[in-house]
Amino acid sequence: MEFTKSIQAFQEALEYIPGGVNSPVRSFRSVESDPVFIESAQGSKVRDIDGNEYIDYVGSWGPMILGHAHPDVLKALSETMQKGTSFGAPTLLETEMAKQVRKMMPSIESVRMVNSGTEATMSALRLARGYTGRDLVIKFEGCYHGHNDSFLIAAGSGALTFGTPNTPGVTTGTAHDTLTAQFNDLDSVAAHFEKHGDNIAALIIEPVTGNMGVVIPTKEFMQGVRDLCTKHGALLIFDEVMTGFRVAKGGAQSLLGIEPDLTTLGKIIGGGLPVGAYGGKKEIMDHLAPQGPVYQAGTLSGNPLAMAAGLTQLRLLDNDSMIYDDLERKAGMLEEGLKNNLRELDFPAVVNRVGSMFTLFFTKEEKVTSFADVMKCDTKVFSDYFKYSLESGIYLAPSQFEAGFVSAAHTDEDIQRTIEASYNALKKIK
Ligand code: PLP
Repeated sequence: MEFTKSIQAFQEALEYIPGGVNSPVRSFRSVESDPVFIESAQGSKVRDIDGNEYIDYVGSWGPMILGHAHPDVLKALSETMQKGTSFGAPTLLETEMAKQVRKMMPSIESVRMVNSGTEATMSALRLARGYTGRDLVIKFEGCYHGHNDSFLIAAGSGALTFGTPNTPGVTTGTAHDTLTAQFNDLDSVAAHFEKHGDNIAALIIEPVTGNMGVVIPTKEFMQGVRDLCTKHGALLIFDEVMTGFRVAKGGAQSLLGIEPDLTTLGKIIGGGLPVGAYGGKKEIMDHLAPQGPVYQAGTLSGNPLAMAAGLTQLRLLDNDSMIYDDLERKAGMLEEGLKNNLRELDFPAVVNRVGSMFTLFFTKEEKVTSFADVMKCDTKVFSDYFKYSLESGIYLAPSQFEAGFVSAAHTDEDIQRTIEASYNALKKIK
């Protein structure tokens, strides 16, 4: 495979853009390589500027659950665009979007649209603080909730990949207000509530993690977290920016059967346009301005193009009764294929999957259920695996600490090709 144009493009970008990328996770630095520059995408495939085509498991980091350039989404965008791109005034589309979100995720009685997942979690935390009159927030080591200061403490995703889980630039005071606990370890949560119970405004969690790779919560852990929040009057925030409408039609909360007080959303609800949202009980949401005293605003919030793309995608997901079954079938096929490869080659690794989200962890451990397990993974092996996969036309996230995404556009043939490529990559590493 030739990467000449991408290599040149990256050299030029480095001159003008910090690290050559507009988000660190796009860099291939942690796998000691240069990123490929994407020219176009269609269905399950992305194509780079050298003309190489890949089966895509990044899906723009989650939004593209229907695949790239879905004709209905493109049609909605072009029709909406003809009427103007932004008004800074209420539109019918925004109420339609709110109704659709509530229909699919009934814990969200009232929802406020913002422009990114980062804004959603930042605003949800402010609301929780304003509502409870308390300061502290609990988050989990390895979970990522966007790049606002309060959550760049023991953070996952790129912050973990690039060795800055506690980034410089966050004040000591802000860091002090964030307490960290361990995923799937209820005692670590209970200890914080015992010590600071009357000053904890919220607990935020990825209900299935994607940002340290896919780690699945036990039922007892999640129920325990819900009970502790209720007992101590703290709001439970499910950060479903990644899992919302991804792991199930009703998000992780419907899979787990647990109702959070607030939910944050992003990615899928924008259909590939910049978006975020947070919502929950009306009684809590009504504390937001102009109804209530907690301020939050946005010039482009509820932007018509983002609403049109996102609403079209959500309606397609809601109305096609087979879509989640089919995602489950294809992602299950991939999981089985990867596991068969590992068995056949006697290669130590663990596959974790929930719905169409999966991670292949290169570890000698039997299972990966905690941040400590994730940290035992061999990132050098991942790095080789990533490069061999790319060269055989499989586009994965360039980090061990991320999830892969199967879309409705992936075909059985795509999945079979991926399993074969994975076998060959593992064989080369062995
Ligand atoms: N929360 C979760 C769970 C995420 O996965 C992400 C992004 O990957 C965010 C928040 C931040 O979203 P954004 O990148 O849109 O700011």
